[in-house]
Amino acid sequence: GGQRESKVRVRAHFDYNPETDPYIPCKEAGLAFQRGDILHIVSQDDAYWWQARKESERTARAGLIPSRALQERRIIHERSQFEASEGDSKKNDDFDREMIATYEEVAKLYPRPGVYRPIVLIGAPGVGRNELRRRLVARDPEKFRSPVPYTTRPIRTGEVAGREYIFVARDKMEADIAAGKFIEHGEYKGHLYGTSGESVKSIVNAGCVCVLSPHYQAIKALRTVQTKPFIIHIKPPEFDVLKKTRTEARAKSTFDESNARGFTDEEFNDMLKSAERIDFLYGHFFDEIIVNGELLIAFEQIMNTVQRIENEPLWAPAAWVQ
Ligand code: 5GP
Repeated sequence: GGQRESKVRVRAHFDYNPETDPYIPCKEAGLAFQRGDILHIVSQDDAYWWQARKESERTARAGLIPSRALQERRIIHERSQFEASEGDSKKNDDFDREMIATYEEVAKLYPRPGVYRPIVLIGAPGVGRNELRRRLVARDPEKFRSPVPYTTRPIRTGEVAGREYIFVARDKMEADIAAGKFIEHGEYKGHLYGTSGESVKSIVNAGCVCVLSPHYQAIKALRTVQTKPFIIHIKPPEFDVLKKTRTEARAKSTFDESNARGFTDEEFNDMLKSAERIDFLYGHFFDEIIVNGELLIAFEQIMNTVQRIENEPLWAPAAWVQ
């Protein structure tokens, strides 16, 4: 009695099942949750076992969950075992995820009239994030805008400088990349391509919704208090639906040019594998998952989400809310 409940809310970055946890003092007292769940931390009095309740089940009793310190120790232990079993061959971005995969403190971010959060569409190549971005912009070009990317490749006939790309010299672009002016960049056939942070900012300042569909590695550069992005994973549906919808879309030519020659089964499988990997590495950063089976249905879901972002307070990193 007597003690006031803490107000802390966190987003879980891992799955937890007390039934399979050999260390929990009492399995019946545990609270099972999944990655992405919002948890209300009722008590952090014990160093190893917090008491929490799911935000979606507010009337349920609180249960025991591993504290951040305990979960971090477990991850470090698992990682050392994993490294011992794999040697040095598997040190890469997988561990970026492991470093932070415990709990993230969150709070409700209220929409601000006239200031739109950028929408970031992440997804495996070919699943349709670029096509969905183009359709958003086409639906309402006054409202939705995508930054014009920079490139070092020569301009082609029919292109207009500043329309398809902003064309720049390589040494200038390299210097700007080194200075951190690009939120993402890549090299393709010997030329640099990239999107500048300044162009995202100017779209937001103009009162528009900035829509981006970068490589998933750009998430880290984008997910900042300055940008406050809403991040959506555009996932493929299961194999049969993926194949069926792309084949039908191709027949009707309603899909984008990447589908013009059609995809092979192997490419469909690559999309599914790549989507799994994106989920594994970045799943805890996604505000929403939209399955792109039928393109028009996925598009309507994005439009509904846009409405929600504009009108409802949504969970976001606590540091963004002030
Ligand atoms: P193109 O030179 O034919 O216009 O574009 C070739 C390729 O450049 C695209 O398919 C894409 O892979 C890459 N590209 C275009 N814009 C960007 C961008 O903003 N960032 C990155 N990282 N790559 C881009």
